[in-house]
Amino acid sequence: MLSKPQNCLETVGPVQQRIRAAALASGRNVDCVTLVAVSKTQPAEAIEAAAHAGIEHFGENYLQEALPKIEALAPLELTWHFIGQIQANKTRPIAESFAWVHGVDRLKIAQRLSEQRPFHAAPLNLCIQVNIGGENTKGGAQPDDLPGLVTAIRALPRLQLRGLMCIPPEETEPDRQRHWFRAMRRLYDALNESGAQFDTLSMGMSGDFEVAIEEGATLVRIGSAIFGPRPQKPA
Ligand SMILES: *Cc1c(COP(=O)(O)O)cnc(C)c1O
Repeated sequence: MLSKPQNCLETVGPVQQRIRAAALASGRNVDCVTLVAVSKTQPAEAIEAAAHAGIEHFGENYLQEALPKIEALAPLELTWHFIGQIQANKTRPIAESFAWVHGVDRLKIAQRLSEQRPFHAAPLNLCIQVNIGGENTKGGAQPDDLPGLVTAIRALPRLQLRGLMCIPPEETEPDRQRHWFRAMRRLYDALNESGAQFDTLSMGMSGDFEVAIEEGATLVRIGSAIFGPRPQKPA
């Protein structure tokens, strides 16, 4: 599979252009925005094509699906981000196979990841997921719980707490999208003012990444704009 490069994905260049334009438009340095290509449901071949088009960071939601792809693509030395919901009994393979985890919203999960991170690996990079819209259907810590959670996670030895992540309520109006991203930015800044030392604000997907960048995202997670529409998962 790794013997010859696939055709480079033609969608990668235009997405990178849009990231650059959004960064420039808001007076930010484009080097401060990391593109994570969300490759859930995509075969290893598609990931390889995106890698050959210049992408280094990939995001996966489902462990069962991700592990064989990570193994098959190991020679490419990609950086893997776990962006899905984390069950407490699945933390070990996540701690072993990923460089980043974005969906942590409870101390218990962070403690397990820290205990299970292999000693030969660098500390696991972590973002706390925030339920910024207060939605019952979504995971994420409540904003009021963040200061305590940040302090507790920062004390764990095998983790590097990098910042905050959110999946905001679905909005079609850019002004409504902006509202949630701006609220995240305020939390991020407030925690940094009290010593959190965050450098990562993980927000923005295919439908809203430009607004997210304008509001301060340092990492965007983009799936369908790069790989095309995903097959519907059976309900
Ligand atoms: C699927 C997913 C994305 C990417 O979504 P697109 O709309 O395809 O860009 C980003 N973040 C998370 C947490 C996801 O589950």
